[in-house]
Amino acid sequence: MAREKLKEEDKRKLNGENFKKLYSIFQYIVPYKSKFLVGLVFLVVGSFLLLAFPLVAGKLIDVAGGDQSWYLTDINQVALALMGILFLQGIISYFRVYLFAQVSENAMADVRTGLYQKLIHLPISFYDKNRTGDLMSRITADISMLQTTFSTTLAEVIRQIVTLAVGLTMIFITTPALSLFMLCVLPVIIFAAMLFGKKIRTLSRKSQDELAVSSTIAEETFQSILAVKSFTNESFEKNRFDGAMGKVITAAIHAAKYRAGFISFIIFALFGAMVAIIWYGAVLLQNGEMSIGDLISFVLYTSFIGGSIAGLGDLFGQIQRAIGASERVLEIQDEESETDSTTTVSTPIKGAIAFDQVSFAYESRQDIQVLNRLSLQIKQGQKVALVGKSGAGKTTIAQLLMRLYNGYEGTIAVDGKEIKEYSLKDLRDSIGMVPQEIILFGGSIRENIAYGNPAASEEEVIAAARKAHAMDFIQSFPEGLDTLVGERGVKLSGGQRQRIAIARTILKNPSILILDEATSSLDAESENLVQQAFNELMKERTTLIIAHRLATIKAVDQIFVLEHGQIAESGTHDSLLSNPNSTYNHLVNLQLVE
Ligand code: ADP
Ligand code: MG
Repeated sequence: MAREKLKEEDKRKLNGENFKKLYSIFQYIVPYKSKFLVGLVFLVVGSFLLLAFPLVAGKLIDVAGGDQSWYLTDINQVALALMGILFLQGIISYFRVYLFAQVSENAMADVRTGLYQKLIHLPISFYDKNRTGDLMSRITADISMLQTTFSTTLAEVIRQIVTLAVGLTMIFITTPALSLFMLCVLPVIIFAAMLFGKKIRTLSRKSQDELAVSSTIAEETFQSILAVKSFTNESFEKNRFDGAMGKVITAAIHAAKYRAGFISFIIFALFGAMVAIIWYGAVLLQNGEMSIGDLISFVLYTSFIGGSIAGLGDLFGQIQRAIGASERVLEIQDEESETDSTTTVSTPIKGAIAFDQVSFAYESRQDIQVLNRLSLQIKQGQKVALVGKSGAGKTTIAQLLMRLYNGYEGTIAVDGKEIKEYSLKDLRDSIGMVPQEIILFGGSIRENIAYGNPAASEEEVIAAARKAHAMDFIQSFPEGLDTLVGERGVKLSGGQRQRIAIARTILKNPSILILDEATSSLDAESENLVQQAFNELMKERTTLIIAHRLATIKAVDQIFVLEHGQIAESGTHDSLLSNPNSTYNHLVNLQLVE
């Protein structure tokens, strides 16, 4: 799919629509406009100074030849003037580059923060559809691309246009005959350059594309390095990577062929044109229709003009890439954020839950009706369990309750009020979810517990850790609560991670608790401790236990059996078990066999 998208991008033209996109990004510069404008003035002044160079250099030769018509009549004076121009130009360039860098750094940091802010407020359904790697590249590579555009490309475009316009004007004023001659040669070169440029852009996009594929392979391999090693699939992975690299090389070499052809053509064409111009200049010189100084400044101007035309061609390509990048950035800005309600609750949510005729299918898999007119009620403070085969839709129910997904039919109410009428913050703050796979952030154990309530005091963190039966193992680490966990910290066992998650949830203090197969991957010993911690956590909270292993749910008030997107049966463990034909009985038997 990404491939098709890139192909579309290849077809992109510099039309009005695309300039509008670049313009939207340009809005980010507005806060820094005074610096930008000063930079712009420096840019134009600098370009003009540089353009005076060929004129004065030509004069130097003519003055040396005895020409006294100019107001500087001594070659030393003219040479000094030349040096002066260059010196001034250098100083102005310094400030120009520095100012533009400041503007673009700031503006692009704003774009990045804006994008990040936007991304974290996008619904989970967005993340279901997009790969993390792609989002990362938008926030890094694409914005870097834009940054280059704003720090150098735009300035260059302006500079080259000034050079081109002034250069052309100057030669037409000083040597009209020669300029007309040159004008016949130029379009041929420009046309050829454009043809080549287009082909090269398409090809280098392809090699970038292949490169992206290879880095995705690498990323996936590193992320699942354990699986790779345990299946001893190192050579399989290496071959996969080799294959991708092969495609990168093929595409890159293909592009290089065109680039090489282009470069040799340009060198030939430019110098060929130069020879023709010098030859014609020599003819004019011989006939006394032009001075040597004029010829020299003409040749210098034409090299400026040639340079700026070649430069503009290159910049044209860069601008196209920048449009691609800004499109990728703006696409995200156009995504719809999670719909939120602005009303906040006056009294805390108590935790009565009611699903009424709820139907739901995931946006990315419309063909599967996960929930089909499902209804269930959980009273405030009740402990209930939800059982059903894997894939029955248990986690989906929990996610809908937290409004992680919209687009369901029917009503889901908490304390008698449809969940869409709560603000996301109120709703989600009132629900604590402990999943099977606990995510610990890079940082200390203390920080990970306090994630449940960043405002919690040290005492509250410790109290929560105690209640979660986590303090014993935390104190067994030399650094205690300061022990680092997460990707580069100590490795904790499943039961330890669970207890940190429980402490975190105790601090969050939700009125509704969802345990989604929270104990299913624990060994018997840690399960016992974790179970005690869970019992502590469940006190006085409406609790929905999603359980895979039925042994853990015997004591709940009510069990819901989920089948075909509906609640097929409900009742206590004993009542459900007493019916020999119940699905519950069947599930229990299955587990006994296991
Ligand atoms: P359970 O928790 O009971 O094992 P889930 O609620 O996770 O089941 O999944 C129910 C069904 O929805 C499954 O068929 C699963 O493949 C599908 N599903 C789950 N999450 C998503 C998702 N984010 N996008 C698309 N389909 C999903
Ligand atoms: Mg699940």
